[in-house]
Amino acid sequence: MLIKGFQKLTLLDYPGKTACTVFTGGCNFRCPFCHNAGLVTKLDSEIIEKSEIFDHLKKRQGILDGIVISGGEPLLQNGIDEFLSKIKELGYEIKLDTNGSFPEKLKNIIDAGLCDYVAVDIKNSKEKYCETVGLENFDVSLIEKTVDILMNGNVDFEFRTTVTKNFHTIEDIEHIGEWIKGVKRYYLQNFVDSGNLIDDSVEGVSKELMCEMLGVVKKYVPTAELRGL
Ligand code: SF4
Repeated sequence: MLIKGFQKLTLLDYPGKTACTVFTGGCNFRCPFCHNAGLVTKLDSEIIEKSEIFDHLKKRQGILDGIVISGGEPLLQNGIDEFLSKIKELGYEIKLDTNGSFPEKLKNIIDAGLCDYVAVDIKNSKEKYCETVGLENFDVSLIEKTVDILMNGNVDFEFRTTVTKNFHTIEDIEHIGEWIKGVKRYYLQNFVDSGNLIDDSVEGVSKELMCEMLGVVKKYVPTAELRGL
């Protein structure tokens, strides 16, 4: 496990829970709008020992409800199953943030009861997936498998899309809506410049366009919401 960041308390990242967040290093995508480029590209900076995480979890038993495993892409990590299993032994609920490109690993983790909530980024319409994740080639069927696993399974989950002026049109958002039609939770979130980007030419869209996009997606996902406006 390459752990690059640890936030000891979050009231925002795990819906309805008090939690802490672990950030793993490295990602197989290069989304130009990645809000935490340092986690993806600078793998030689500070590393946090697992013992620090477990010491905190032991001290906060009965105070924190859960832990968010985010990144980077957590499912790239060797030893992720064992890490999650040890967290579970301490009685914590686990939310896993993933880019959805490792459907088999995700399924194994769900089947083993090692996570309670999964948040998957739907980066764009299938047609524009590859360019949106900053790769020359990408097999979008991996994301299709992840979508199917979650929509046909029993674990709680959400899909979300970060909207940028550079990559997302109303038509793209409509295609995403058609793809994930009927999902229980879907959030559109406008891109916000974190100051730590892979490509600093990326911009968000207007509030009006976000509302228009929400209207389009609600034809397919009536419960869809805007997040962070
Ligand atoms: S936004 Fe997520 S999936 Fe994209 S490069 Fe950053 S960590 Fe990876």
